[in-house]
Amino acid sequence: MTQPFHPPQRTLMGPGPSDVNPRILEAMSRPTIGHLDPAFVGMMDEMKALLRYAFRTENALTMPISAPGSAGMESCFVNLVEPGDKVVVCQNGVFGGRMKENVERAGGVAIMQQDPWGRAVDPQKLEETLKTNPDAKIVAFVHAETSTGAQSDAETLCKIAHDHGCLTIVDAVTSLGGSPLEVDKWGIDAIYSGSQKCLSCTPGLSPVSFNDAALKKVRDRTTAVQSWFLDLNLVMGYWDGGGKRAYHHTAPINALYGMHEALVVLEEEGVESCWTRHQNNHLALRAGIEAMGLEFVVPESERLPQLNAVTIPEGVDDAAVRSTLLNHYSLEIGAGLGDLAGKVWRIGQMGYASNEKNILNCLAALDAVLSSMGAPIHQGEAVAAARAAYR
Ligand SMILES: *Cc1c(COP(=O)(O)O)cnc(C)c1O
Repeated sequence: MTQPFHPPQRTLMGPGPSDVNPRILEAMSRPTIGHLDPAFVGMMDEMKALLRYAFRTENALTMPISAPGSAGMESCFVNLVEPGDKVVVCQNGVFGGRMKENVERAGGVAIMQQDPWGRAVDPQKLEETLKTNPDAKIVAFVHAETSTGAQSDAETLCKIAHDHGCLTIVDAVTSLGGSPLEVDKWGIDAIYSGSQKCLSCTPGLSPVSFNDAALKKVRDRTTAVQSWFLDLNLVMGYWDGGGKRAYHHTAPINALYGMHEALVVLEEEGVESCWTRHQNNHLALRAGIEAMGLEFVVPESERLPQLNAVTIPEGVDDAAVRSTLLNHYSLEIGAGLGDLAGKVWRIGQMGYASNEKNILNCLAALDAVLSSMGAPIHQGEAVAAARAAYR
């Protein structure tokens, strides 16, 4: 007989999923009720308010899409991009490449602005790209590039886009709940995120938010949105039905209990305190990594606190280090992606996993594993340096 599946206990310090808060798992085990049950509908309304709090927005249309972050990405592009629309995509890592795919599959024309992997998007370059493409309608970029650990200046990029009459689509999958994000203040028109990064919920949900300007573009479309499932005009009937919600799809009830709990946890801590916690843990991790003699990929002012890309020292076996960490320390860190495959490790400290114990354990484990392999590091200094950073 096949036995029930019991996963091993891990500490997840990669690019996501992050460790799920036990409170969230407990919430998800509560009884399933109908997706049109008044009690459930009341919970949905609370969740929308909590998501507005997390995103720092007043946008009425703020809700989770019933699918992972990639579906949130797709919902922004299929709804906002009409056939023939020119969309400037600022690419500085893997996820910008997916934006291009989305633009083209929605019938749009992607104007690619390439920035080096490991750097923020260059605002000066965006200014020039928009000057040479005055007919562009949308600017899209990734706020927190999880593939490289670079954070871009979303406020400045949105301002430049608006000065040129463009709407903005922003990927905040890794930034929401982890580093400062101000949807209304920065003028973000459409944004998507994910449940499994700094919100520490289980994977499979994608919070999104659209402002009035974005919704006007959706309503004024002359062609139908090519995806039935993600067509906001239909999804809104369920999430925003003004009291009489219509069946669209069966909501993932228990997953939404989890998201509600994750947002209650966020509200309890306070979103700004959450940002500070990630920053402080990043500084301690940085002290440890540098004490070992390892180097960050991203220049200091452009670093994403919750995702740290560290250069693999010459001659060190990338896969052997990661598998030893997993098998002997039950610790997961991330491999490099795309252009950075084999060249970096990605150490995440997201949400529930962003704490002092994890930072110290991760440094101790990395120190021990690298030393045992004879890697050229300063042995035995990382943990002390991190502890000093906390004091
Ligand atoms: C993880 C991630 C995604 C995709 O989210 P999934 O939930 O894996 O579909 C998109 N963009 C960024 C920046 C991410 O880090």
